[in-house]
Amino acid sequence: MATFDAVFVGGGINSLAGAALLSKAGWNVCLLERSEELGGCIKTSSDLTAPGFTHEVLASWHPLFTGSPAYAELKGDLDRRGLEYLNTELPTASAFPDGTSAFLTTSHEGNVTEFAHHAAADGPAWDAMFNGFMANADLSFGVLGTELWSPAGLGLGRQALRRFGRRGLLAYLGTVLSTCRDWLGDTFESEAAHGLLAPWVLHTGLGPDQAASGFMTQVIACALQLGGMPVPKGGGIVLVDGLAGIVRDAGGEVRTGAEVERVLVSGGKATAVRLASGETIRAERAVIASVTPTQLYGGLLGTGDAPTDVTGAARRYRYGRGEMQIHFAMSEPPDWYGDDRLGQTAIVHVTPGLDGVSRAVNEAERGLLPAEATIVCGQPMAVDPSRAPEGSWIVWIQLQELPAGRVKGDAAGEIDVRDGIWTEELREEYADRVTARLGRHIQNLERATIKRVALSPADIAAMNVNLVGGDIYGGSCALDQNFLFRPLAQAPGHRTPVDNLWHIGASTHPGPGLGAGSGYLVYKELTKPAAPRRFLSSVRDAGQRLQQSVAKSS
Ligand SMILES: Cc1cc2nc3c(=O)[nH]c(=O)nc-3n(C[C@H](O)[C@H](O)[C@H](O)COP(=O)(O)OP(=O)(O)OC[C@H]3O[C@@H](n4cnc5c(N)ncnc54)[C@H](O)[C@@H]3O)c2cc1C
Repeated sequence: MATFDAVFVGGGINSLAGAALLSKAGWNVCLLERSEELGGCIKTSSDLTAPGFTHEVLASWHPLFTGSPAYAELKGDLDRRGLEYLNTELPTASAFPDGTSAFLTTSHEGNVTEFAHHAAADGPAWDAMFNGFMANADLSFGVLGTELWSPAGLGLGRQALRRFGRRGLLAYLGTVLSTCRDWLGDTFESEAAHGLLAPWVLHTGLGPDQAASGFMTQVIACALQLGGMPVPKGGGIVLVDGLAGIVRDAGGEVRTGAEVERVLVSGGKATAVRLASGETIRAERAVIASVTPTQLYGGLLGTGDAPTDVTGAARRYRYGRGEMQIHFAMSEPPDWYGDDRLGQTAIVHVTPGLDGVSRAVNEAERGLLPAEATIVCGQPMAVDPSRAPEGSWIVWIQLQELPAGRVKGDAAGEIDVRDGIWTEELREEYADRVTARLGRHIQNLERATIKRVALSPADIAAMNVNLVGGDIYGGSCALDQNFLFRPLAQAPGHRTPVDNLWHIGASTHPGPGLGAGSGYLVYKELTKPAAPRRFLSSVRDAGQRLQQSVAKSS
């Protein structure tokens, strides 16, 4: 029987990064992916539309990865394997129905000017907001980069208490819980500023009227100025191959077409996995599963392996809204109505503004096709011109406001949704409506389109078993399933009730995105020095600090 130190279930970013990091730490690692391709939501394709066009079928933008501790540790190895990030000074904009637009750049002074352009008070408001956020950025980013249900999480809380005092901490927590609508209204005067930032809340799996959506919008707004909108030159496949290469070069195994159907538990401890083929692979130190709670507790583990309150909570785990992708190959660059900079911007949200996002989210939550969806219009060519033949263009569309499950109707009253199943007909009718709206902004869209390919929530769910119902974020990110409560209040964090079994992926803290956060947190936990060594090194650190302060004061 093949035996490894660690066996990863699933080949998405969290598994790949975790496996690469553990391999570099000397662990013998095996990674098992059920589909024929590695990468999970990173799916670069040259066959989607027309020859010469390279599309990111699903995830495209890598600011979370380039800002991650996993990248910081792996950068040298990935550089040597050909990974190069390209970036832009124009990460995002919103294009409004009246032809006006608003921009967020990577220049602080530039953003102060942009915001002031819409309302005089909004320039200083951006300056104050950004500086205020940065003063406590260690805490805000810390929430997303710390194992919250652990001594480290408690440490973060103590750090906040020392800084703010008791009442100050309460006030800070209050701001963390505020909605995007309230935060925007309290911070900026102009509707353009609201319409520029509100669509970003969709990228956190929330809507603008949900708890904590204000905090998440603020984190993203500041991160966009700080980090831009990087993409790997040539596509995400370069990152996937680089990470897999690190594992293989260290002697580990990376397999596709290998579906894990059972985690084998003996004496309360995960000891091996069994593949659908019947093969068993032994894990001496850890099984790390990047799956949904539904699959982990309702499929991979046997009855009685986990406590019933945990398996019950996993059964009740909620999935979020569905999502649709539309890809265009165009024979020429887009002719945007209005500001020329729209054609150089990585992600343009075509939106009526904050109320438009709110309305579309609400319609989707009620099972309806929204009348006026937020069109997330990604333009990878604005950052990486290698993706398509010179003089041509790619448009990557996300529609994040679609019902979870069956479609009950059309909020615009135009489309007959029949039995609510995502048929090819329903998908194309809805894509036609979105294309017509986008065509009012990109004036040559219809004329220059070589090919359009749409993927419904059902198509997306069929590509990756973790994207249940076409929820691209691995489960609802509402407060009761987020932060400390992700994946489950009954099994918080990444340690599971089964010894040696760890839970990672978008369904776990810090949630969805390409930041590899959960893979990194588990790697850190597994490679943490044993308690006596930790104690000795903390005594050594304290001694060094004492020596330094004595030296300073003498
Ligand atoms: C359409 C779309 C667009 C997105 N855009 C962005 C973006 O631009 N930027 C961004 O930061 N994030 C984006 N996201 C979110 C982000 O891509 C995901 O949150 C993230 O990639 C999830 O990574 P993961 O590690 O959880 O694993 P996943 O990528 O979900 O991969 C999990 C893998 O595990 C495999 N698997 C599951 N069960 C088993 C089993 N039993 N045996 C073996 N293998 C198994 C699956 O086949 C899958 O390949 C997007 C997501 C989608 C779907």
